[in-house]
Amino acid sequence: MLTAVQPTPGNLTADRLPKGEDLAFDVDKVRADFPILDQTIHGKPLVYFDNAATTQKPMAVIRALSSYYETINANIHRGIHTLAEKATAEYEATRETVRQFIHASLTEEVIFTRGTTEGINLVASTYGRQHVTRGGEVIISTMEHHSNIVPWQMLCEEKGATLRVMPIDENGDIVFEEYEKLLSEKTQFVAVVHVSNSLGTINPVKRIIAKAHEYGVKVLVDGAQAAAHLDVDVRDLDADFYVFSSHKLYGPTGIGILYGKKALLEAMPPYQGGGEMIKEVSFEKTTYNELPYKFEAGTPNIADTIALKTAIEYVTRLGKARVARHENELLRHATEALTEIPGLRIVGTAREKISVASFVIEGIHPQDIGIILDTQGVAVRTGHHCTQPLMKRFGLPGTTRASFAMYNTKEEINRLVTGLHKVLKMLS
Ligand code: PLP
Repeated sequence: MLTAVQPTPGNLTADRLPKGEDLAFDVDKVRADFPILDQTIHGKPLVYFDNAATTQKPMAVIRALSSYYETINANIHRGIHTLAEKATAEYEATRETVRQFIHASLTEEVIFTRGTTEGINLVASTYGRQHVTRGGEVIISTMEHHSNIVPWQMLCEEKGATLRVMPIDENGDIVFEEYEKLLSEKTQFVAVVHVSNSLGTINPVKRIIAKAHEYGVKVLVDGAQAAAHLDVDVRDLDADFYVFSSHKLYGPTGIGILYGKKALLEAMPPYQGGGEMIKEVSFEKTTYNELPYKFEAGTPNIADTIALKTAIEYVTRLGKARVARHENELLRHATEALTEIPGLRIVGTAREKISVASFVIEGIHPQDIGIILDTQGVAVRTGHHCTQPLMKRFGLPGTTRASFAMYNTKEEINRLVTGLHKVLKMLS
């Protein structure tokens, strides 16, 4: 069980905040961009605190989607007619926007996938199959999402390799010295989450990568929870692979990004075969297309890719620093307010956190908390959050998780607290 650790309200330290903008953040103006927020649930104004599962979409993104289908829908790359050229140009413009967003050197290093999960599976099935061998080891951490556990487990089973796990401490921080001890001549790959979806922990991925590189080992970073909250600079991190999903970044579902260093991607076999990923096909032999198309078989998710560009532009225009400061304030307020609730314990008190407040209340099942909060119009996530081994580490069946985004307010957190008092009244 987690021992009583006093949470530091709002643990995201100033030097981790994206730097830049100093202007005030107008949350009301931001809220007006998200039509879904303006509704009632069970007769109460919606409070949406399930942002780590998926964020809501601003009107600009919704418009980009419908405008694509209204005005330029066509298949890309092969057509020579005007619409095909327009669709191709817009699709490829997203690649350039993503490149800038993550500070990659080259657009060829930006591969479109269906999401984080597919990006990890792609790397495990290609680079992993090439480099993980019998007797070798793959290192992950205790706080991985199932999507950064299972593909490596499957690979290890197939190859006769062993999955090793970096331990974490009671606060939810990786024990770095233990990670160092796990690294050896046997290590063949490291896969680690940038930000934990269950705890909010921001991991020291730059240090983790540097250490692995001392052994010549490549590292994949699962950035699903980082992309919307932190400045991601793949070159500064020296990440070999970095994956994330559009839908957690105010963009549509069904589209994600795999960043990979060019030399690595070039040396990897394709993931799927089909149209688009080929240069020439005969019944005797197929030659593969250049990057990034080698990894983009078939007609891609054109509309959602184009709308992802709008989502990134939206976040960038608001300013990540401003958003992060606002979210950090929300985390600080929530941590203080929640700690006042009798029997409530915050799970995840890491040194550096994004705006995720996971908690348990003594004697009350998280699911019951979630159901009662929903009757109050407050949407939270309950359960294991696709991190069952992490829950086991803390001796918990699950937690209740409130995760905050740019459009949330302190008043909404107060609604959560009122709802929790109602839970206590009804169930304790
Ligand atoms: N990794 C982390 C840390 C996540 O939080 C999630 C989703 O919650 C995933 C991976 C999987 O993302 P997706 O379902 O978009 O592929």
